Amino acid sequence: MHDFVVVGCGPAGSRFARRAAEAGHDVLAFEQGEVGEPLACSGHVSRDLWEYTGEGAREELLQHRIRGARFHVGGPDSDAHLFYKREAVSNVIDRVGLDRHLADLAREAGADLRENHTVTEVTEREDRVEVTVRAPDGTETHEARMVAGCDGPRSRVRDALDLPEPGEILHGVLGFDPDPDDGDYVDVHLTVPRFFAWRIPRADAGVEYGLAAPPGADVPDRFERLQSEYGVDLERRCSGAIPIGPPASVTGHRGLLVGDAAAQTKPFTGGGILYGMTAADHAARTVDPRDPATLSDYEDAWRTDLEREIRLGHWVRRAYSLPEPVQRAGLRVVSGEIGVHMDRPTSVFSTEHLRKLLSRS
Ligand SMILES: Cc1cc2nc3c(=O)[nH]c(=O)nc-3n(C[C@H](O)[C@H](O)[C@H](O)COP(=O)(O)OP(=O)(O)OC[C@H]3O[C@@H](n4cnc5c(N)ncnc54)[C@H](O)[C@@H]3O)c2cc1C
Repeated sequence: MHDFVVVGCGPAGSRFARRAAEAGHDVLAFEQGEVGEPLACSGHVSRDLWEYTGEGAREELLQHRIRGARFHVGGPDSDAHLFYKREAVSNVIDRVGLDRHLADLAREAGADLRENHTVTEVTEREDRVEVTVRAPDGTETHEARMVAGCDGPRSRVRDALDLPEPGEILHGVLGFDPDPDDGDYVDVHLTVPRFFAWRIPRADAGVEYGLAAPPGADVPDRFERLQSEYGVDLERRCSGAIPIGPPASVTGHRGLLVGDAAAQTKPFTGGGILYGMTAADHAARTVDPRDPATLSDYEDAWRTDLEREIRLGHWVRRAYSLPEPVQRAGLRVVSGEIGVHMDRPTSVFSTEHLRKLLSRS
């Protein structure tokens, strides 16, 4: 019997598989397709990402450094309110490459990571879990002490363990213009109900345009409008789901959810790469597959670390729905040089940020 079966090898699954294997556990991990495919992510992350990668990753995966964001209450021709740092705030990376890199690290740590294996059923028993998998050679059943559901926003493991759904699931779309752009700033347009549209320069990898919104907000039409406002006609497009608002419980009797399956994302950007890997580390550190009682240690650990950030992130997102004149006035007041960490909204109260605010007056 394995210690852990991991379902899904995105950043959360591969990170958990790696850390659990390094802790000496027997880890079997399944990915339904090829790791990293299909792409449905901007790969815009804080520089903390490099704490989770191995040798040579930065040279291989970094596409561009970003110094800040221009916020617009309207389209590209509207006034821009710039938030910036003198050094890079964030990085734009090759997301498919990142997933492959993290999966390689998991394999090197000893996890048995199998691609083209789709988990179709998970059953919790008193002393184990049974996992049914559709593999290239037929159907297989595996037993483990615990299952880690790292299978993304529409998690099958979440359903199988009868765990609650995330607060909401947004629909995100993006597309690419191949023309290189090494601009310093991303553009954020508060023109979408309860979320935003964006433009991200990716240096030689071109420019990405995207938007996300709640279901029913007519995402395809809005995306067409964004393209026509920018005068681009994007060929390479993709879309995905963004879960916002973690459910009250992400652990079962012999299972746990990590990453998007647990909606461990930033409510004001939808970003989940760093939060998912942070939670994966908490899971690997706290959960003993032989002792189901340790699952509550995981709940405590990730919530202690991230819940306050997520709560404040919800407040930041509320500003996207304020009346336009209030948004404009607010942006005018708070824009300028910032000392905020993009994954940690609580850093708005940090000495670094307060010093920047004071230096403006
Ligand atoms: C349009 C868009 C833009 C985004 N931009 C950013 C961004 O710039 N920065 C950021 O941090 N985040 C961004 N995100 C969010 C980010 O993509 C997710 O938070 C992140 O991928 C979550 O990682 P994960 O490992 O939890 O889930 P996933 O990356 O979704 O990985 C889950 C894996 O499980 C596999 N799987 C699912 N079901 C099964 C099954 N039954 N059997 C086997 N395998 C299965 C899937 O194939 C997948 O590989 C964006 C999302 C969208 C939709």
